[in-house]
Amino acid sequence: MFANSTRYYSARCVRPAVRRLARKHTGRSAFSSSLSSLDDMDDVAVTSPMFSSMEEFFHPTETHRDLRAMLRDFVKNEVEPQALEYNRTESFNLPLLRQLGDLGLLGLTVEEEYGGAALDAAAVVLAHEELSYSDPAFCLSYLAHSLLLVNNLSTNATPEQKARFLPKAVSGEHIGGMGMSEPSAGTDVLGMTTKAVLDSSNNTWQMTGQKMWITNGTLDGGNTTGDLFLVYARTGPERSDITSFVVEKDMPGFHVGQQIHDKLGMRASPTAELVFDNVPIPNENVIGNVNGATLCMMRNLEIERLGLAAMALGIARRSINVMKDYANDRKAFGKTLWDFGQIQSAISTSYAEYMAGRCYVYALANQLDLSSYGNGLDADGTKLYCAQMAKTVADRAIQALGGYGYVGEYNVERLWRDAKLLEIGGGTNESHHKNMARDLRRGPPLE
Ligand SMILES: Cc1cc2nc3c(=O)[nH]c(=O)nc-3n(C[C@H](O)[C@H](O)[C@H](O)COP(=O)(O)OP(=O)(O)OC[C@H]3O[C@@H](n4cnc5c(N)ncnc54)[C@H](O)[C@@H]3O)c2cc1C
Repeated sequence: MFANSTRYYSARCVRPAVRRLARKHTGRSAFSSSLSSLDDMDDVAVTSPMFSSMEEFFHPTETHRDLRAMLRDFVKNEVEPQALEYNRTESFNLPLLRQLGDLGLLGLTVEEEYGGAALDAAAVVLAHEELSYSDPAFCLSYLAHSLLLVNNLSTNATPEQKARFLPKAVSGEHIGGMGMSEPSAGTDVLGMTTKAVLDSSNNTWQMTGQKMWITNGTLDGGNTTGDLFLVYARTGPERSDITSFVVEKDMPGFHVGQQIHDKLGMRASPTAELVFDNVPIPNENVIGNVNGATLCMMRNLEIERLGLAAMALGIARRSINVMKDYANDRKAFGKTLWDFGQIQSAISTSYAEYMAGRCYVYALANQLDLSSYGNGLDADGTKLYCAQMAKTVADRAIQALGGYGYVGEYNVERLWRDAKLLEIGGGTNESHHKNMARDLRRGPPLE
């Protein structure tokens, strides 16, 4: 349906292309859900008189506005209808992820010459917010590929490496992710033990070790690895002697240890342990400087955390909309739920918290330079606040729906389970406390 793999977001053609795409989608049959027809996909914030004055804040340019419109249409027609089933069966919708390549979304932040859209952090936030509204698990796989792999390469690789790896990753022909965490080292990331040793006789590195919890680690149920991974490994005696490598599917000794099943949430996103058994990696696959990957890692963690915070916004907005709908429909004691103070409190408090998180996220996104470093405090802060906010709002939604909230058909129990991951992946709440306290302690008084 997205004919000819058109790059809809080249800087020159993005606006007309998005409009074309939006028209294309408009003729499609409407999706009907069990509870809500998603007519409520309209922004919850349109009910706020303040919202019109904040238009430019949430959509800094016309391109961003068009991008959101196109995403809403795509999410409504393509993402929403499959979310429940892929969660139930714990399976991964790889063809749908590849479609995001056709739409230009897999290379949002990549330069045009490698097939990307050359857009910014606000576009990243917007895409994650919208995809997560219907399917946070699908969005997590999108994040692992488009930010942890693609954006990292786009920011840190040489032009030759970008020309080798990015076009297929941006088109969706190759799908992969990033390997940082290990079975025995997560928060303590510099405690990693996966190592790579250079054999100078043939200019090839030998990598040995394991990476744990790797999103998109396998795309076929655990038989083989994903296509391409950015992998961090120890390359020297100091704790910070870490180098990043591109590891490609079918390199000898690179295989899946196990696919991790039965996760609490994010069940439609594949997670795997990856094993490196003396994997020979050519020197041309070293990204950045040898022993210099910690800076790249920290820089990419900023946009990762902002993307995860944006996912939390999608979860919260959906949960509020489900509560709004249900409060209209459900009657008790001869009244709608809207008439009960505790339900009013659940919905209004959730709205205020969602708007606070949304403003924090867009305030950071609108000024984040993807090639810079130094926004750690607020990247941690947005994720810390929004992850907990989304889980709390989804929890209120379950409560407001009573027994119906407790079953999959009404979506909010899935959103609540998915929200929990945002308190762990990309940094635990405790690691955000640790980092933020360090930065606040060092920094000047707040103004
Ligand atoms: C579904 C899923 C997908 C993931 N995808 C990826 C991926 O694609 N790539 C990747 O590299 N990783 C991925 N991860 C890993 C994730 O980033 C780690 O789980 C996370 O960083 C925490 O590490 P850990 O699980 O080893 O827990 P640990 O670091 O062992 O933490 C255990 C507990 O101790 C606490 N703790 C640890 N150190 C401190 C401290 N100094 N102060 C206070 N408390 C502390 C933690 O906050 C936590 O509560 C994924 C995880 C999940 C569950």
